[in-house]
Amino acid sequence: MTSIGIISLRIKGILGETDKGVELMEKLSVIVPCYNEEETINLFYQEIKKVVKDMKIKLELLFINDGSSDKTLEVIKELSDDKDVKYISFSRNFGKEAAMWAGLNMASGDYVTIMDSDLQDPPSLLPEMLNIIKNENYDIVGTRRVTRKGEPVIRSFFARCFYKLINKMSKVEMVDGARDFRLMSRQVVDSILTLKEYNRYSKGLFSFVGFKTKWLEYENIKRVAGESKWSFWKLFVYAIDGIVAFTTIPLTISVLIGFLFCLIAFAMILVVIVKTLIFGDPTSGWPSLACIIFLVSGIQLLCVGVIGEYLSKMYLEVKNRPIYIIKETNIKEK
Ligand code: UDP
Ligand code: MG
Repeated sequence: MTSIGIISLRIKGILGETDKGVELMEKLSVIVPCYNEEETINLFYQEIKKVVKDMKIKLELLFINDGSSDKTLEVIKELSDDKDVKYISFSRNFGKEAAMWAGLNMASGDYVTIMDSDLQDPPSLLPEMLNIIKNENYDIVGTRRVTRKGEPVIRSFFARCFYKLINKMSKVEMVDGARDFRLMSRQVVDSILTLKEYNRYSKGLFSFVGFKTKWLEYENIKRVAGESKWSFWKLFVYAIDGIVAFTTIPLTISVLIGFLFCLIAFAMILVVIVKTLIFGDPTSGWPSLACIIFLVSGIQLLCVGVIGEYLSKMYLEVKNRPIYIIKETNIKEK
């Protein structure tokens, strides 16, 4: 046998019988949380396949069916004839945070991204994002919406207020308009996987791990089909989760308010004593008393509520329940 033949046999031995070019290729994992997305998945699949085909990278499409009640799972299963398509189906709806966490745990790519299936996160940005990580020495390429066109005005207003507030209170920076759509290197993903907390607020967790991040900006795009799963109330609760998860300043504010009210009460006691000594003890003044009782008890309830929020999160954390439960998957092992 010629020496070239021996070398090629050795290469086959190391790389397996498959094409060595494919084996050496890097892999991109795309995590797609899906909740009642039967109308959008096929469109997303076609689009992402088209984009990744020209990227000279292996694709791993990880669909996470988050307890959908429509035909989402059936649609995903039909696509899974394609060997690039993997899926995990939850036993119920655990929320997008749980779906993203499951995806990060299962992803095996050298680069990992999270995308909505409604094409609001444009796949066409992926080649540029990959290029930035590979050639410009960044670890994360995030995307942010510069406009909130198509969103109800009141929602945009509260969203802006929320970002201003949380950035004042928390040391971890939350970027206004930042989407969950971001491309991360394996090192970043491994760092996120070390944060195993139950109450997950990914926008904060992504910032918490640090690393060099570049932001790409784009105009808001409307969903291709279906409806947003986020009601105003859900977003409000999510905002509270974010605040509780990333800052304890509300507790400090409660202490300060308590202290301020003690000072006011002390001054009022002095005023009442002096007034009684000089003018006697008139019985008027009950309306103001009623107002004060209302105000003070309201503030007390508020502060107890703030403590309760932190306590409830601790309660859930201590119980150590799983973040998601898998009912079905085509992933053999990781
Ligand atoms: N999603 C999910 N579980 C949920 C809610 C949403 O997996 O409980 C998915 C949803 O299918 C979509 C993504 O998260 O792919 C973003 O949801 P949506 O488009 O409704 O949010 P928006 O883009 O309006 O912020
Ligand atoms: Mg969306």
